[in-house]
Amino acid sequence: MPRLSEVIAALDALWPPSRAEQWDAVGTVCGDPDAEITRVLFAVDPVQEIADEAVELGADLIITHHPLYLRGTTTVEAGTFKGRVVHTLIKNDIALHVAHTNADTASPGVSDALAGALDLRITGPLVPDPSDPEGRRGLGRICELDHPETLREFAARAAAWLPPTAQGIRVAGDPDMPVRRVAVSGGSGDSLFEQVRAAGVDVFLTADLRHHPVSEAREQSRPLALVDAAHWATEWPWCEQAAAQLDAISERHGWGLRTHVSRTVTDPWTAHAPSVTPPSISGAPN
Ligand SMILES: [Zn+2]
Repeated sequence: MPRLSEVIAALDALWPPSRAEQWDAVGTVCGDPDAEITRVLFAVDPVQEIADEAVELGADLIITHHPLYLRGTTTVEAGTFKGRVVHTLIKNDIALHVAHTNADTASPGVSDALAGALDLRITGPLVPDPSDPEGRRGLGRICELDHPETLREFAARAAAWLPPTAQGIRVAGDPDMPVRRVAVSGGSGDSLFEQVRAAGVDVFLTADLRHHPVSEAREQSRPLALVDAAHWATEWPWCEQAAAQLDAISERHGWGLRTHVSRTVTDPWTAHAPSVTPPSISGAPN
């Protein structure tokens, strides 16, 4: 049975903390390095529902993509929601470990899992990491479709194959335009429009897209087609990929770890009321 410190060392080899963005807060949030680990739960968000799920499951380690604390704090008082998570975890001997932007840029990373969930063939990173001589690491992925499809069909693919959320899939672009090359980036991607444009892809699939960046991208002489899935849905496939990576490590070391991927939808949007009168651009996927 491995100790937490051994499991963390293996995870750090997959997603080196040194490759996280400067503003990020990755690594172990709580846990005893000497504690024995038998059961691991993977999730996107370190929220109370996930902490409760870990207690129910008897997990002794949660690995999340999003940090619990991104900025400094002066309290873990149980009346605060983050403090309550910390109390739940410590009372139940559950460690919490975060792999965020270090998992985004890894190979395989968050966007590899997203492309895999959409059954897209990856040709390379969208924003290559200049320190990677093999050119495989970096932010986002550029992908190709084996058979061209329309933007409508591509959005329907995302709706069918990403985990379901209240938001569903939003589309900006001519639904009948052909799609051959695609850029994908798990999480908030509207800071990557310039790189997406430079990559010359037909469509960019990401999340959290805002009015002004999208409006400006659409008003260009060569408008960028955009597909917006829920943030949680674009990053959840990473949990399955990461669990499989840890399973392989566990097998190699004879650790006998049991890994679980949370199916709890922690996307904060909980309902969607479509407009009573459909928008004039008919044919948007539902
Ligand atoms: Zn995210």
